[in-house]
Amino acid sequence: AVVTRFAPSPTGALHIGGARTALFNWLYARGRGGKFLLRIEDTDKARSTDANRQAILDGLRWLGLDWDGDPISQNANAARHAEVANQMLAAGHAFKCFSTQDEIEAFREKARAEKTSTLFRSPWRDVPEAQHPDAPYVIRIKAPRDGQTTLHDEVQGDVTWSNDQLDDMVLLRSDGTPVYMLAVVVDDHDMGVTHVIRGDDHLANAFRQNMIYQAMGWDAPTLAHIPLIFGPDGKKLSKRHGATGAAEYQAMGYPAAGMRNYLTRLGWSHGDDEFFTDAQAREWFDLAGIGKSPARFDFKKLESICGQHIAASTDAALLQEMAAFLYVTNADPLSETQADGMLTGMYCLKERAKTFPELIEKAHFILTSRPISPDEKAAKALDDVSRGILSELTPQLQNASWSRDTLEGVVSSVAASHDMKLGKLAGPLRAALAGRPVSPSVFDMMLVLGRDETLARLKDASS
Ligand code: GLU
Repeated sequence: AVVTRFAPSPTGALHIGGARTALFNWLYARGRGGKFLLRIEDTDKARSTDANRQAILDGLRWLGLDWDGDPISQNANAARHAEVANQMLAAGHAFKCFSTQDEIEAFREKARAEKTSTLFRSPWRDVPEAQHPDAPYVIRIKAPRDGQTTLHDEVQGDVTWSNDQLDDMVLLRSDGTPVYMLAVVVDDHDMGVTHVIRGDDHLANAFRQNMIYQAMGWDAPTLAHIPLIFGPDGKKLSKRHGATGAAEYQAMGYPAAGMRNYLTRLGWSHGDDEFFTDAQAREWFDLAGIGKSPARFDFKKLESICGQHIAASTDAALLQEMAAFLYVTNADPLSETQADGMLTGMYCLKERAKTFPELIEKAHFILTSRPISPDEKAAKALDDVSRGILSELTPQLQNASWSRDTLEGVVSSVAASHDMKLGKLAGPLRAALAGRPVSPSVFDMMLVLGRDETLARLKDASS
């Protein structure tokens, strides 16, 4: 069975690139009845924080990327990592190195001067145990000295490295703590990870990690190193291009389904399909569809896909997600009346909205209550003439049946009797009902507000 994992370091919040890596792992596992595990790589104690860990979990939850079991702390497995280093030592795949920092530095200085490789070559590699001093040591792996290593990567193809680029890297420090490279391999092995899908900035690490798999005789997982995300200008995505944190997109009010869809398309393709559901993404996602060149983050496309997801969502789901949005942005929650109104009006609010703030702006006529205080532009639309016409309209609406056709008929005939285009009357009507220039159509507002509230607002405006 497929087992994937997302292995973020809690040295920062969840980045868009990390979110996409998590998403690819999640899709790959979920589409194959596999497991998606979460491992927090908190071995860098100085830079790892609980707040970052929490932010990463929150971001994954927001995106709906549920993981199996409890998140694993890499740090908690340190004893197991040390055990493996000692097994490699016992089996002759690793050695004790007594070189001091000064000696290593001297080696490098000499190598630089002689223009030879600065990869440290320890003099202790072949010194028998009996000749070891009683001094602090690190455990280093015995890297292959010649030949080359070819690793197959599902995205990059066959990648070959000359083994003289591999160093006898440290596995266990002199204080007995494991290095990150060892921890990743041992954890992936112990967690039964079958597929490692991660950023291609880790490709070089794969060769170093492969030495450990070889030494331990473990099956190495299938690799898929995905190209990093670029900004629209073709440079690595950074703050200069716009928001880079998952939480920032959440706070801007992008719907999670739209974000998932967009991030899925970022570096992976399925023909020309742009918009798809989660079920389709799970069914279609594969490693073969991951592109070899970096994808460019396209803010316009993100918005357009988000708009399509808002339009395709059920009204109840949108309301629920909007409530969550208000909560994370510390806005006031909806009252029961407001929530009811939103549910009634959602059919017209969701047209063309790409984010929750846009939806909320259009919903102002529902969220506000009488007396409506018109903004400057709306106030201008309510001049004496317009107010006179609105007061004519009111008694006619009193008896009209409350359907779109009748309402359109009544408003059109009042407009016509004043030689006005319907659009001309829409301005003051909108001002009376919403107090804002941004709203759904006046007929949708009337239908959503109902007769009593509509008439009351018209009376307020025309009196
Ligand atoms: N902790 C690494 C990172 O955040 C990921 C390592 C891996 O996926 O193997 O970049």
